[in-house]
Amino acid sequence: AGQWARAVAILRELEEKCAAPASKLRQVADAMAVEMHAGLASDGGSKLNMIISYVDNLPTGSEQLQRLSSKACCPAAQVVPTRAAGTKSVGGARTGPRITSPIHFVPAAQELFDYIASELAKFVATEGEGFQLSAGRQRELGFTFSFPVRQTSISSGNLIKWTKGFAIEDTVGQDVVSELTKALERKGLDMHVSALVNDTIGTLAGGRYYDEDVVIAVILGTGTNAAYVECANAIPKWHGLLPKSGEMVINMEWGNFKSSHLPTADYDNELDLDSLNPGEQIFEKMISGMYLGDILRRVLLRIAEETALFGDTVPPNLEVPFLLRTPHMSAVHHDTSPDLRAVARTLQDVLGIHNTSLKTRKLVIEVCEVLAKRGARLAAAGVVGILKKLGRDVAPRDGTPMPRTVIAMDGGLFEHYTRFREHMENTLKELLGDDVFSSIVVVHANDGSGLGAALLAASHSQYL
Ligand code: ADP
Repeated sequence: AGQWARAVAILRELEEKCAAPASKLRQVADAMAVEMHAGLASDGGSKLNMIISYVDNLPTGSEQLQRLSSKACCPAAQVVPTRAAGTKSVGGARTGPRITSPIHFVPAAQELFDYIASELAKFVATEGEGFQLSAGRQRELGFTFSFPVRQTSISSGNLIKWTKGFAIEDTVGQDVVSELTKALERKGLDMHVSALVNDTIGTLAGGRYYDEDVVIAVILGTGTNAAYVECANAIPKWHGLLPKSGEMVINMEWGNFKSSHLPTADYDNELDLDSLNPGEQIFEKMISGMYLGDILRRVLLRIAEETALFGDTVPPNLEVPFLLRTPHMSAVHHDTSPDLRAVARTLQDVLGIHNTSLKTRKLVIEVCEVLAKRGARLAAAGVVGILKKLGRDVAPRDGTPMPRTVIAMDGGLFEHYTRFREHMENTLKELLGDDVFSSIVVVHANDGSGLGAALLAASHSQYL
C-alpha cells in the first residue's frame, strides 16, 4: 500500500510541475511573440533564429503539376535528416525520395551527403518514359533539409547546428548545398540545387498550393518547428531590397525557444543534460516525438526505483535511453481495451516488465496523458504567439471580419498521436476564444514539404 501511495505521489508531483493552465500559456505566447520581434531585429538577438528563407513568393495553386509520385523511403525510417524533392520538368514538379536515417546515426558529413546523392540516383533511375528532360538541361532539385540553416540565398545556406540527435562536427558552418553538390558530382549526377528549403517552408508552400489563406506551418514530428509569412518591412535585420510581394517567409526554428514560463520538471532537466545539445532546443525537448517517449521512460524509471510496481528490481530496459519511443507511448495512451492489453504488451515487449496490475497500467496511461497534454498545450501556445505577432489573435477593433487563417500542420506526431492533436486543437480554442478560433483552420498538409520544395525549385529554376 505504501508503494502505491509513493507512485501516486510521483504522478501528482509530475502533474503539478507540468501544469500548463491558460494563464501560463498566455505568458508563453507573449514570450514567443517578444522573442520573434527580437529575432527579426538582429541575428543572435534571440533564442529564435527567425531565419530569412528568401522565399517571397509562394505557390498560387495555378502551377501545373505534371505528376506527383515516387516517394521512396529507405528502410530504416526513424529520424529524417533531409528530404530531397522535386526534379523539375517544364512547368511541373514531382516529389522525390524522403531520406531518413536512424537516430544517433553519426556518419562523417561526406557519408551523409553521399548517401543522399545515392538515394537521388536511385530516384532518377526510377523515372519512366513519361519524364523527358529537355536537351541540354540539368535536372533541378528542391533540397529539403530539416535542420537550422542560415540561408544566404534561396539556394545556399550554412548549417547553424545539428538537432534531433544528430552530431557531425565538420558540417557546422558549412554550406549544405555545396556539400550536396560535391556529393552529386562524386556520383556523376548532373543535378542543380535550385532551392534549399527548410521542411516548415516546404510545408507552408505546399499548403499554399491548395489554400491561399495558409500563413503558418507547424511541424510536429521527430522535432518541432514553425514558419510563417511576415511583412517584409517588419524585418529590421533584412537589408536587401523589399520584395515586390511585400512578404517574406520566416523559418522561426522555434524548437530552440526557451522561457522561464515553461512548466519544467526534473525529468526535463535530466533529459537535457544527457542530450547531445544541452541547453538547446528546450521547447522541442518538451514537445516533439523524439523526446516524449524518453520523458515517459524517465518517469517510469523513477517509479520503478521507488516502488515495486514494475517488479522487485529495476527493469534494465528502463535504463536504456530512447528505447521507449513516442509511437509506443501513443499506443499505450490510446489503449481503450478493458484490460488495457496494449499497455501490458508494450510494457512487456519493450521494457521487459511482466504481470502488471490493471491499476498500474492505468497509472502509466495517466503519465502519458500528463506529458502529451503539456506538449500539445505548449505547441498551441506557440501558435498563439505567432498569431499575436501577426495581430490575428483578437478580432479587429474596427469591426471588420476576422481574416481566415489556415495553419498547415505536418509530422508523424501530429498525424498519429490523436490525443496530442486533440489537446492542441482544444487549447487553441481555449486560448483564442470561440470567435477568433472560428476563423482558424488547421489542416494536415500530408507531406506537403516535398510538394512545396518541388514548387519552389520550379519557381526558382535557372531556366526561367
Ligand atoms: P521527421 O519529423 O523525422 O521529419 P515525421 O514527420 O514522419 O518525420 O515524424 C516522425 C516522428 O513522428 C517519429 O520520430 C515519432 O516521434 C513520431 N511518430 C511516428 N509515429 C507515431 C505514432 N504512432 N504516435 C506518436 N508519434 C509518432
